[in-house]
Amino acid sequence: MPAPAIVLFRRDLRIADNAALRAAIATGPAVALYVLDSAADGRPLGGAARWWLHHALARIGAQLRDLGVPLILRRGDQNTTVLDTAVEEQADAVYWNRRYTPWGIAADRALKAALRASGTTVGDFPGAYLREPWDLTTKQGNWIKVFTPFYRASLAMGEPPGPLQPPQPQLPPSVSTKSEALADWDLLPTKPDWAEGLRDTWPSEPGTAEARLSTFLEGRVSGYSRDRDRPDLDATSALSPYFAFGELSPRQAWHSARQFQGTSPGSDQGIDSFLRQLVWRDFSANLLYHFPDLGHRPFQEKFKRFPLSDDPSSLRAWQRGRTGYPWIDAGMRQLWVTGWIHNRVRMGVASFLCKHLLLPWQSGEAWFWDTLVDADPAQNIANWQWVAGCGADAAPYFRIFNPITQGTRFDRTGNYLRRWQPSAASYEPGSGGCQPIIGHKEGRERALAAFRSLAGRWESPG
Ligand SMILES: Cc1cc2nc3c(=O)[nH]c(=O)nc-3n(C[C@H](O)[C@H](O)[C@H](O)COP(=O)(O)OP(=O)(O)OC[C@H]3O[C@@H](n4cnc5c(N)ncnc54)[C@H](O)[C@@H]3O)c2cc1C
Repeated sequence: MPAPAIVLFRRDLRIADNAALRAAIATGPAVALYVLDSAADGRPLGGAARWWLHHALARIGAQLRDLGVPLILRRGDQNTTVLDTAVEEQADAVYWNRRYTPWGIAADRALKAALRASGTTVGDFPGAYLREPWDLTTKQGNWIKVFTPFYRASLAMGEPPGPLQPPQPQLPPSVSTKSEALADWDLLPTKPDWAEGLRDTWPSEPGTAEARLSTFLEGRVSGYSRDRDRPDLDATSALSPYFAFGELSPRQAWHSARQFQGTSPGSDQGIDSFLRQLVWRDFSANLLYHFPDLGHRPFQEKFKRFPLSDDPSSLRAWQRGRTGYPWIDAGMRQLWVTGWIHNRVRMGVASFLCKHLLLPWQSGEAWFWDTLVDADPAQNIANWQWVAGCGADAAPYFRIFNPITQGTRFDRTGNYLRRWQPSAASYEPGSGGCQPIIGHKEGRERALAAFRSLAGRWESPG
């Protein structure tokens, strides 16, 4: 039997459009490896993401089995585990798809050096984004810090590369390393089992990501640009957790959307708007790649001096959906039950935390990290900084989302309120029976004063 190649899986749990998997199979027998490493995302996965990971690994494990590629599951430090597994399997090559987070880049660079030093072939490939973050620059060759020019530059490069087909099945190699059992990883909550709402919202079946994409394109994309801000309608794709764990690649989504557009006159606006969101996803990755401190340093330096409040009780009220603002509490309840919130409501709850409550955006980001099934380092951090006003391309500081009018404006049918705050008759503070923890006018004035205290021009890092 020739030496097998190892394909290392991370947030790319798919068999289609997977360049590393194709490369491994192209050279002979292949073995897949997933390492549960608490440092893989710079911090341990949150509870909801652990739940998602369990099911995503079960899905990819079954698909890999059909391909003749055994999946080895192991816990520990990624690099030590890969090096050990390479020795145990007598592998002559290791392939992976690239990561772009600062911690991911550092770990993978060290792994590459160690493998090469041991005479092992290494190959790394793109595929997590539409483009590599270093491919998009200004005319002067600098990285792009504002979305609109980034979007234009991305479009100017033409269509992103098409997705790769899944590889052909192979004869499974014999494997000497014993895989750990997925069930032993305790990724699913048991005591208590809080995941009922997640199970109801995200049924785990093979091929779910592709099916969801087709349903979205065939049923909803035509109205997407009109309705995407309406949480009372099922108007968006809800594909974010599949992108976050790489069960669907953005290039697959992009090209399926283009294909659908070709057969569906009238879908142009919706498709363009959907594809623009995929470029936002690239943009967040681009920010974290070029500004690796994004997780703990404001993108705009002057925000280091922003006067923050230290009030654990208002943070708890926000987390538990007990702010007394039905729009905010509905969003936080949707998050708690389903592990996901509509983007319009995400912006609202995040703005409330950063502006009305003057809490550090990191405290909201950490809660999202723990409760979102689509928790993604770059998307979460970049969006929180954006809402807080200290990020790249941030909205003007005086734009403070109104938690009353946002509800009436975007939940036109009232379905969202009835679903997530049934005790509230309207979006008026206190209408659900819970007293508002801060008056809207008071919160807004306090936030404006805090922003004004950062006198001078808005700067961004060089
Ligand atoms: C405070 C805050 C935190 C967020 N944290 C995350 C996170 O951890 N993970 C995450 O995937 N998204 C995050 N988002 C972005 C966005 O809210 C979700 O991607 C979107 O709501 C997912 O729903 P969807 O799949 O139906 O999106 P659709 O409207 O169908 O859009 C299609 C895809 O485009 C991408 N996309 C959409 N909006 C954005 C955006 N604003 N920024 C970057 N990519 C976007 C997503 O991958 C999404 O699946 C956050 C937004 C805010 C305001």
